Amino acid sequence: MNSEPSDHEPINNGNLSQLCERLATLSASSVNGQSWPGEQLELLEQADVYRWFVPQHLGGLEWGAAQIAAAYVELASACLTTTFILTQRVAAIRRIYTSDNIPLRDRLLAGILAGNTQATVGISHLTTSRQHLGKPACRAIEKDGGYFVTGQSPWVTGACGTTHLVVGAELPDGRQILFAIASDTAGITIPKGFNLVALTASQTGPVKFENVFVHPSSLLTEPAEQVLTVSGLTSTGSTQTSALALGLATSAVKFIERESLHRPDLLASAEALKEQQLVLRDRLLKIASGIAAGTNEALRTDMNSFALRTTQASMAAAKGAGFVEGHPAGRWCCEALFFLVWSCPQAVIQANLCELAGIE
Ligand SMILES: Cc1cc2nc3c(=O)[nH]c(=O)nc-3n(C[C@H](O)[C@H](O)[C@H](O)COP(=O)(O)OP(=O)(O)OC[C@H]3O[C@@H](n4cnc5c(N)ncnc54)[C@H](O)[C@@H]3O)c2cc1C
Repeated sequence: MNSEPSDHEPINNGNLSQLCERLATLSASSVNGQSWPGEQLELLEQADVYRWFVPQHLGGLEWGAAQIAAAYVELASACLTTTFILTQRVAAIRRIYTSDNIPLRDRLLAGILAGNTQATVGISHLTTSRQHLGKPACRAIEKDGGYFVTGQSPWVTGACGTTHLVVGAELPDGRQILFAIASDTAGITIPKGFNLVALTASQTGPVKFENVFVHPSSLLTEPAEQVLTVSGLTSTGSTQTSALALGLATSAVKFIERESLHRPDLLASAEALKEQQLVLRDRLLKIASGIAAGTNEALRTDMNSFALRTTQASMAAAKGAGFVEGHPAGRWCCEALFFLVWSCPQAVIQANLCELAGIE
């Protein structure tokens, strides 16, 4: 009997491995990995994945942090691009459900849970991006009972596929505003995403604002100096970013393990990497659930290192064939570089640089 689900059959929440299988199949067949993963995102929608992240009292399933981290590892191993887009949508959902603007929160969440509202974030210019320039990337001035926003949010993933954007801007007195706005609001331009070293299909790039009017009813919280810290959420280097790095590394380790079945010279490396993968997974889940000491930053530093080492090991194992375009080892190597730059706190960048420079 054929146990494959039909294209129209909704995926059960519990059946994560079935979802991952379908994601992996779709991603493997996508044209050179450059096209927007619309079908993959539709699968997440059908599987009710967004509800995992929403508190029960707001209509969600409220999965625990460790359960989410474990799921992220699986999903990222199946399709890193789709899972990355998911994390940016989830970052927006978190900003929305922790908002103290209850009417806005309820309206947007209702749309998200019904599947007709999608939101992504453009907030890195408030934390990790453009910090050295001495002037805000996105400026707001208070006027006519609201705010006028001009500038750009330099990094926004998948804005072309969303109905709303969660964005920050800075006022002349140094306070920041954080708002949720419809992507088709007058004055907002969403250019085509960058051609990236990897994950180009995520359609990541700047979103431009030209005198965009933001009504106070669109503010997620009151203006504040460090507006992202008001909700108490982690803004960079969270365990979810580590989970994605581990998902990628897992794909590479599985590949080396498969190769080692008929190549004894690979056995020792395969076993060592598998052991490290299990140790890191255990550490990730313990830190996510708050039962282990250790910081997110130390974990992310080690995950970055592991993603780089395992993907390069997969290239060495794949030999010249791995260097030909289309082989997954080459793509994994490029994808691992992403973790050196995405949502990476300064302490993690510094630690990774020290490792690369051979400094203790
Ligand atoms: C693929 C991808 C997707 C992303 N998606 C999102 C998203 O959806 N939402 C979101 O909010 N963010 C997103 N980000 C942003 C990310 O989290 C980081 O904020 C971003 O990678 C930081 O890089 P930057 O080039 O903007 O850093 P910057 O610090 O602005 O560095 C840019 C350049 O400035 C120069 N420079 C840097 N520091 C200094 C200094 N101290 N003095 C002098 N010159 C300096 C260097 O030449 C550097 O190359 C994404 C990033 C990537 C790569």
